[in-house]
Amino acid sequence: MLETVKFDIECLTPMFTGGVDRYCDRLHETGIIGSMRWWYELIIRGLGFYACDPTSKDYQCKFDPNSKKPFDEQLCPVCRMFGTTGWRRQFNLQIKWEPNDKSYFWLKSIDRNNQWWLNKIFEFPKKGNVVDNKFAIVIRNTNNEIIQQLKYLLSIMQTCGGIGAKNQYGFGIFECNDSVSPDDSLKGIYDYLRNGKCVRHSNEKDSGWNNLEKLWWYDLAINDNNSMVKQWQNSRYYINRSKDQSAKFLLPTAFDIRYKIPPVNSPDDPILGLRASCKNRHGRNITRKYFGYVDGDHRQRSNIFVSHLYRRAEMTDYHVKAWGFSGSSHGIEVGEELKRIFEIKTPIIMNSFSLNRSEGYKVIRSEVNE
Ligand SMILES: [Zn+2]
Repeated sequence: MLETVKFDIECLTPMFTGGVDRYCDRLHETGIIGSMRWWYELIIRGLGFYACDPTSKDYQCKFDPNSKKPFDEQLCPVCRMFGTTGWRRQFNLQIKWEPNDKSYFWLKSIDRNNQWWLNKIFEFPKKGNVVDNKFAIVIRNTNNEIIQQLKYLLSIMQTCGGIGAKNQYGFGIFECNDSVSPDDSLKGIYDYLRNGKCVRHSNEKDSGWNNLEKLWWYDLAINDNNSMVKQWQNSRYYINRSKDQSAKFLLPTAFDIRYKIPPVNSPDDPILGLRASCKNRHGRNITRKYFGYVDGDHRQRSNIFVSHLYRRAEMTDYHVKAWGFSGSSHGIEVGEELKRIFEIKTPIIMNSFSLNRSEGYKVIRSEVNE
C-alpha cells in the first residue's frame, strides 16, 4: 500500500542551518536524514542487531542483486532503511516550510571572553544568519510498516535528543505531532526487525560506538524567576540584537551551560558548567572523550548534548534538556551540575533505558539528590 504521511515538526529550539546556503532545501534534508540515520544506527545496535560502519568503505554494506549472498547478509537494517550503494532509501523526505519559519540567529553569554569561540564554532556570518523554527516532514511512496518505523524513530529522537546538526550546542529540540512513548517505540522497532528475519546480531553494544545502553537524558523545568535565568536575560546578545519574536520563548544559553559560567556574583563563586565540572573531577583526557575535541586532523565528536532554554508560552517555565552517551554514573554527575547551575534544591530525574529483552524495554527513572 502506498501512502503519503506528513509529520509536523515544531522546533522548540531553532534548527541550525549554518551560514552557507541557508535556503537550500537539499542541505536541510541531508542534515535531517543524517541525524535520523545516526539515531537509527544506535537504536539498532542497542537492540543487539548488527549495523555496519558507515564511515568505513570496507565495512559499509553494498547491495548486489546478482549476489548469492542472502539479503540479510548484504544489507544491515540501517542501510535497508536509509540506502547504500546499490540500494535506495525506503522513503522520500521532503520539507515543507511554514510561513515565518525563519528567525535571526542569536546567542547569549555571561562570559565576555566567549566571543572568539562563538565566532569560530558557528562561523558567524557577516549578517543575517537565520535558523528554522517550523516545518513539516512529508514522507512519500512507502509502505505503512516503514512509516511506523519512522514514527518510532522520530519519537525517540524527540524524547531523548534532537534533530539536525549541532545538537550539542543547543539546537534542534523538537516536537512531532504524532509521537509515541520511547518504550513502545523501542518495542516497535525490535518487533519489526525480528519479524523481518533480521538474523545478524552483534555484541557491538560493548564496543566504542555510541549506544542506547550508555544513554541518559534530562528534561528540567526552570522557573522564570530563577537567578541564573535572570542573569542570562540581562546578559549580552551576540550577533543579533533585534527584537526577534522568538526572544520571548528562547534564551540561547547552551554554550554557557555546556562549557563554563564564570563567577556570577563575586570572584569567589565557583565556576559552573558541564565541561568545567567534568574537567575538575576527571581531568583532561576523559573530558575530551566525553565533550569531543579537534586536534589537527583528529576529530572526536561530542557525547554530551545540552539544549538552550526554551518555553512554549510567555510567563510559563523554561525547559532545558540534556543527554549523553557517557553512561549513567557520569549522567548523574551532569544532573548534579545542572542542579548547581540552576540552584535546584529538590531531587531531579535522570532517564535511561533498560534494554533487557526478557523483561521488556522500559525507561528507568533515577533520582539525583546531591
Ligand atoms: Zn549497512
